Amino acid sequence: MPDLPPRPDPGRLLGCLLGGAIGDALGAPVEGYSLDRIRALHGPSGLTGFSAERFGAGAITDDTQLTMFTAYALVRAAERARTRGFGGSHLVLLQLAYLTWLRGQGETFPEMDVHGGGWLEAETALMTRRGPGRSTIAALHRVAEQTFRGAPFGTVEHPVNDSKGCGGVMRAAPCGFPLPDPDDTFRLGCDMAALTHGHPSGYLPAGVQATVVWALLRGADLPDAIDTARTLLVRRPGHEETAEALDAAVDLSWKSGPPTAERLSTLGAGWIGPEALAIAVYVALTVPPGERAGRDGLVLAVNHAGDSDSTGAITGGILGAAYGPHVFPARWREGVEVASAIARLAAECTAEFC
Ligand SMILES: [Mg+2]
Repeated sequence: MPDLPPRPDPGRLLGCLLGGAIGDALGAPVEGYSLDRIRALHGPSGLTGFSAERFGAGAITDDTQLTMFTAYALVRAAERARTRGFGGSHLVLLQLAYLTWLRGQGETFPEMDVHGGGWLEAETALMTRRGPGRSTIAALHRVAEQTFRGAPFGTVEHPVNDSKGCGGVMRAAPCGFPLPDPDDTFRLGCDMAALTHGHPSGYLPAGVQATVVWALLRGADLPDAIDTARTLLVRRPGHEETAEALDAAVDLSWKSGPPTAERLSTLGAGWIGPEALAIAVYVALTVPPGERAGRDGLVLAVNHAGDSDSTGAITGGILGAAYGPHVFPARWREGVEVASAIARLAAECTAEFC
């Protein structure tokens, strides 16, 4: 385990949130399209900039919405621990934040008067329906049916479903912000994801993503960050599928030459957690560090047949945590839909965690 400072670097924290949103917005117009279709629509290099298709140029989707609700709930949990002297409310506040998001999706459920999103609730782009995952919606409806919401419903011990979709890992990056310890961070990532994704391959990739972000924000390099997360992963029951996907990504990154869409596609389509994580790790390890890393990495991460917005979001979170916000082109940093809300949220995270 590397010897790292307990608190995250504020610039990298902003980079993580902003990179995730940019990757989500870049990938959204081609989610589910085949590589051939993407190239037919956007040219031989594929999609290389924001496209107005689907939700509009630079528009974010559920991935960014839920990542921001995650960060917001973690800030409130830390505030509560600091000002009232009791901790341990992370999961209940996360659950409340996700139910608040559910209300914004046009879903109806008993006792809809839930408010766990604070100022995020006033941001239309964070509440309107932007292609939400079915597992997440269905799991939150089950939560909403519970009359007692003072305890998390959907845990590693009592799974809410058997989903291994990537909806847990795609919103996990902020779980790498608050805690000084990597074991606790891994557990938080898993517990947060298990609120909606009950299969180990649904929540363990979120533990990995949280821990990778945790280490990067505290100055680790990418291989060390991935190593730290893998060490924690393989101690967990049901880790095999996620560990195999992670190892395949690492192997592919050094065995097979420069990154290509075809090579990336051998890791899967990214609809399930382990594959989405693997694609992001492969991109992060193969894209050369430097000022083009954010641009080149995200173009690679979204141009494949599969869950392009989620693989873009996960990759952007990692690249931003590794290199900071300026690794992404200014036109993307300024053009992404929720740029000002991200700046505000990053400032709140910085005040609480850094
Ligand atoms: Mg999405």
